[in-house]
Amino acid sequence: MAKKSTAKKPARKATRKSAAKAPKYVYLFGKKTDGNGSMKPLLGGKGANLAEMCRIGLPVPPGFTITTEVCTYYYANKRTYPAALRAQMETGIASIEAQTGKKFGDLTNPLLVSVRSGARDSMPGMMDTILNLGLNDQTVEALAAKTQNPRFAWDCYRRFVQMYGDVVLGVQKRPDEDHEPFETVIHALKHERYHADIEDTKLNVADLKELVVRFKALVKERAGKEFPSSPWDQLVGAAGAVFGSWMNDRAIVYRRKYNIPTEWGTAVNVQAMVYGNTGDNSGSGVAFTRNPANGVKEFYGEFLINAQGEDVVAGVRTPEPVAELKKHLAPAFHELERIRATLEKHFKDVQDFEFTIEDGVVYMLQTRNGKRTAAAALKFSIDMVKEGLIDWKTAVLRNPADQLEQLLAPIFDLADVKKTAVIATGLPAGPGAASGQVYLNADRAVAAAEKGQKVLLVRIETSPEDLRGMIAAEGILTARGGVSSHAALVARQMGKVCVCGAAAINVDYAAKTVTVAGQTFKEGDWMSIDGTIGAVYAGQLKTAPSEIISGLVNHDPVARQTEKFKSFTQLMKWCAQATRMSVRTNADTPEQARIAVAFGAVGIGLTRTEHMFFEGDRIDSMREMILADTVAAREAALAKLLPYQRGDFLGIFKALKGYPATIRFLDPPLHEFLPNSKEQQADLAKKLNIPVEKIEHRVHELHEFNPMLGFRGCRLGIKYPEITAMQARAVIEAAVEAKKAGIKAKPEIMIPLVGFKKELDLQVALVHEVAAKVFAEKKTKVDYSVGTMIEIPRGALTADEIAQTAEFFSFGTNDLTQTCLGMSRDDSGSFLGAYQEAEIFKKNPFASVDQTGTGQLMKIAIEKGRQTRPGIKLGICGEHGGDPDSVKFCHKIGLTYVSCSPYRVPVARLAAAQAAIADAKK
Ligand code: ADP
Ligand code: MG
Ligand code: MG
Repeated sequence: MAKKSTAKKPARKATRKSAAKAPKYVYLFGKKTDGNGSMKPLLGGKGANLAEMCRIGLPVPPGFTITTEVCTYYYANKRTYPAALRAQMETGIASIEAQTGKKFGDLTNPLLVSVRSGARDSMPGMMDTILNLGLNDQTVEALAAKTQNPRFAWDCYRRFVQMYGDVVLGVQKRPDEDHEPFETVIHALKHERYHADIEDTKLNVADLKELVVRFKALVKERAGKEFPSSPWDQLVGAAGAVFGSWMNDRAIVYRRKYNIPTEWGTAVNVQAMVYGNTGDNSGSGVAFTRNPANGVKEFYGEFLINAQGEDVVAGVRTPEPVAELKKHLAPAFHELERIRATLEKHFKDVQDFEFTIEDGVVYMLQTRNGKRTAAAALKFSIDMVKEGLIDWKTAVLRNPADQLEQLLAPIFDLADVKKTAVIATGLPAGPGAASGQVYLNADRAVAAAEKGQKVLLVRIETSPEDLRGMIAAEGILTARGGVSSHAALVARQMGKVCVCGAAAINVDYAAKTVTVAGQTFKEGDWMSIDGTIGAVYAGQLKTAPSEIISGLVNHDPVARQTEKFKSFTQLMKWCAQATRMSVRTNADTPEQARIAVAFGAVGIGLTRTEHMFFEGDRIDSMREMILADTVAAREAALAKLLPYQRGDFLGIFKALKGYPATIRFLDPPLHEFLPNSKEQQADLAKKLNIPVEKIEHRVHELHEFNPMLGFRGCRLGIKYPEITAMQARAVIEAAVEAKKAGIKAKPEIMIPLVGFKKELDLQVALVHEVAAKVFAEKKTKVDYSVGTMIEIPRGALTADEIAQTAEFFSFGTNDLTQTCLGMSRDDSGSFLGAYQEAEIFKKNPFASVDQTGTGQLMKIAIEKGRQTRPGIKLGICGEHGGDPDSVKFCHKIGLTYVSCSPYRVPVARLAAAQAAIADAKK
């Protein structure tokens, strides 16, 4: 009907001909459902779960999904569609028509549809949805007549023109505007006719008709074309816009942040409309089967009466908590409770779902695994094991390793909180404590953060354009919006501290001020928010360590009784049970070692000895050593350093309580120890009683063009063996001393930057020689081993030779990455951003192991090392040891342990356990 009269002239013949063997681009859901929940790559998350909900008998309006393959095709073919698509879409529409008894473009009972995007992983707010598609000046009258509800029909129509104008025709806020242009039109009309900000629901038919006229004029003015009236043109345009939005800036920023590959593409869902805006027996809402902010098992969410779903998320009106629905529409509430139970039983995870009630009847429009804070993830996982819904291994997998650090984030200092008045309260949308300098827009927030300020982004409400600012901010505070507002959603996902809907704050974008409780804050002033309880404070508050740190590291008995602490320790127990790979720490001091052991580290994977040369007077002796002209003078200076080093090692052995310690011998280029400025050089000359020229000369001599590739690592010990000898003596004497004190020390001496077997041979021989001397002197022996770092490609490639001497390997992936890529990490700042933007690499290779390149060298070294020494101990000590993806990679290639900084230890333990569990499931 309508489709025939308005159909464009595309090559229909070709469409028909190829239809027979064309791939399936359209999957139906409804009475007949083609897809299911496991088909997310093809149908997107939304489409797959709509199909799954149909399959388990939940009430879902019928529709169809256009696959992600069409998106791929669209971009591969200059933004055109496969020829067979149109016919398959027509079949899809026909199927919806048959199930609803309505017809698309019909003049008596018109079918309206929603056009919805759906990526594989949900990307909240990134893609836009169009509702009420199929309306034009004729069908709106038909809808009004059919429903006897002209207000509803015209409300749908104005919404449609607004959404379509925004999403498809690009009528959006310009950089100099603070409000959406359509909202500005609504605002103007309200004030013209009512002289007040009345609610949208109070607009009458005449108002809505006028809005449609003004909206269309706005579209014409800004987009330069008429609003399309043919439903099929509308549908094709909308689908195109969804595919087009895959490449919009917001989507690209989001994908980059979450490492979602561009190739995945989005699906498009076309679905029969159900109406939440027919009157007071209708409404729309968003709910979670449990509380995603703190994990409590309660029905959580919100709804609006007489509204379409977009209103709930858009923050135009403030929704009511879902529990209140019982008062308005009890039967619908009970139906939702039933659905809530069904969803958890079926999906075995907390669901985030969207629903609409049309004249008392509940419809499901979406479900997905709910995004959650780290605190909620932890509670969900522990509770669901208790409830028998999941097993403990699944519970381990349910805690995202890269979020775990949120649990360790500081809280506000209790004493400080007691002294400070709460100036406003809002919804606790993202737990944690944040103090920051107020900024009211994303650009200024980003600029301030780049200058090193701590930023609190304060907005009336946030929208996807604010994403960059939200990423840059310590915390987010909004005046409007509920738990499913954009701010809350993003906070949940990024682990940002967030308080939203703090109605008492008054944000004035024009004046750049926030007024609350009689106080006015300008941009740059400090405010603090507690996202765990939803409190807002003036000024900057002191912070205190999280309960987990207090409990584990400081043995605080109160902290140890908290649920958070207990759940965390339970999770770590499960990790220990599942893991194959152990976790060590990179620690240079006894205190760091102690903290790491408290977090479950089973040794040190890297002690950098160079730090030990800087403290107090030591640096003077070190400089004396570097400036010495003769071996004897060098030895004399080194002798002064020996007791310090021995003491440091002893302290570390004590803190480790019998766990092994890998100790790396001197690594950095010597010039790093010498003073650079004239004054410092003069000072040193006086102290050492030598001419300043001598220092200048030595500094000049040690100057290098490429220090990273220069006189450093084992090269130092080869040229100046007495340095290695002193360090060996310090380690062995400390171990002997520890033994006498009843502490078992297990030193693992590690020679850095080895590329030739002979380098290692020379250094190892020296270590053994010194050790033998010490044993003879002290008339006792201790266990120790000597190994090497694999951190330059030649070392990896000749690992079979090196393993003849090395008792262990530890991958120094910082240098290995630098030398494999031929990129200096410290100089990469100038191009790294451009490289990530161009997707030359997906992740910063200095943060997450470049598995295909650098990883290849690791694999070669492992294979060759094992040929020579089958049981060789293998570790990693680069920054990568605390990165979950890198940890999983290390598991895969068979490392014995990973090593990372003390506070990353729980993250690495979780990632290691997850890798082992995933491995076993295969
Ligand atoms: P998002 O991915 O941004 O959540 P959705 O496609 O889920 O976008 O659409 C947003 C909202 O639009 C839904 O939560 C729902 O309330 C409303 N909506 C979508 N499709 C329909 C429909 N067929 N009938 C009624 N409302 C719908
Ligand atoms: Mg949705
Ligand atoms: Mg190195």
